[in-house]
Amino acid sequence: MTHYDIDSIRADFPILKTKVNGHPLVYLDNGATTQKPQSVINAITDYYTQINSNVHRGVHHLSQLATDAYEVTRKKISEFINAAHDYEVILTSGTTHSINLVANSYGKQFVREGDEIVISAMEHHSNIVPWQMICEDRGAKLRVIPINDEGELDMEAYAAMLNERVKLVSITYVSNTLGTLNPIKEVIKQAHDQDIPVLIDGAQAIQHLDVDVQALDVDFFAFSGHKMYGPTGVGVLYGKEKWLDRMPPYQGGGDMIKEVRFEKTIYNELPFKFEAGTPNIEAGICLGTAIDYIKTTGINQIALYETELLKYATKALSEIDQIRFIGTAKEKSSVISFLVNGAHPYDVGVILDKLGVAVRTGHHCTQPLMERFDIPGTVRASIAMYNTKEDIDLLVNAVKKAASMLL
Ligand code: PLP
Repeated sequence: MTHYDIDSIRADFPILKTKVNGHPLVYLDNGATTQKPQSVINAITDYYTQINSNVHRGVHHLSQLATDAYEVTRKKISEFINAAHDYEVILTSGTTHSINLVANSYGKQFVREGDEIVISAMEHHSNIVPWQMICEDRGAKLRVIPINDEGELDMEAYAAMLNERVKLVSITYVSNTLGTLNPIKEVIKQAHDQDIPVLIDGAQAIQHLDVDVQALDVDFFAFSGHKMYGPTGVGVLYGKEKWLDRMPPYQGGGDMIKEVRFEKTIYNELPFKFEAGTPNIEAGICLGTAIDYIKTTGINQIALYETELLKYATKALSEIDQIRFIGTAKEKSSVISFLVNGAHPYDVGVILDKLGVAVRTGHHCTQPLMERFDIPGTVRASIAMYNTKEDIDLLVNAVKKAASMLL
């Protein structure tokens, strides 16, 4: 691995200098949202001080600048994920919006009574509830791929579930609770062998792994800007042209139309057909800045660095007697979930916070997964490109302290 300049990376994130309860902040809640580099923060101010205007509508100077900047982001996203066409990139408000868009639009067009949608036991509520809603609406059935005790997909059970009734498979690339890195290439291939399209929830993957939608041959890929060092309120739905073209609009309004008459409306072309109303312009533009930021280090360098850090953290935490890991898959990325045996995760989280360590506690929006493991929740440490071994050492010391206080 070439030199990874962690000091200069950390210096780019002003919030990392914060003190919490008199301790230096150790931010390990990156699965929930990442911190923002100064370049993204500056880009937000620059947008409002220099080019604020609505997009795709005005002929005036500012509107053209804003539109150009917004469309440059689409191009940057398209290149970042290697989409075949920029118009296959739909800007949404986040992963949740992206999945709801597909569930509603694809669901209305292609899902009929008696059909099935396949998800997995480790999905975030965002990749469960929209499918439950559309299944209820269409009289279809939701089927769930089981997982083993390590938190890995049961690929045999998956293969057995695929048949002509299945209209879509929708699973996560990386589990936000277990850290499991799913074999999505194989998942996609098996579904495609039976002409079934696949949506991948990339919310916990896009900031950690090199994503190439064409190499994956994925039909839909969803992610959020705020989990990849960008602003909140913007996200992406990548969709293959062949599907997007055949899907009806999800919402009606400005921008998604070519011509409106009371008798009949003609919809706009891709990607605008799926982008009704004024978008979050500032967030969209600054997501482009976040992508530039990731590219200065390089996603492959980030992946190598984070993998090493994950190994270090897993080993260090495993040396604490009372630790029980939830999620021990062979292939993992960026997330460690654990329990301190005998202590409620919430109590552990409160003590960690007193020591300046920010983790997430609870069910992580994966309640069915908690039921699968028969636990109320976990303590989750999730890492990002700016975390260090020192952060992990402080986490481990804080967990030891919590164990000594609570047990
Ligand atoms: N999917 C996964 C795997 C997630 O981790 C999250 C958020 O934590 C989401 C979907 C929802 O993302 P958002 O709230 O940004 O829409």
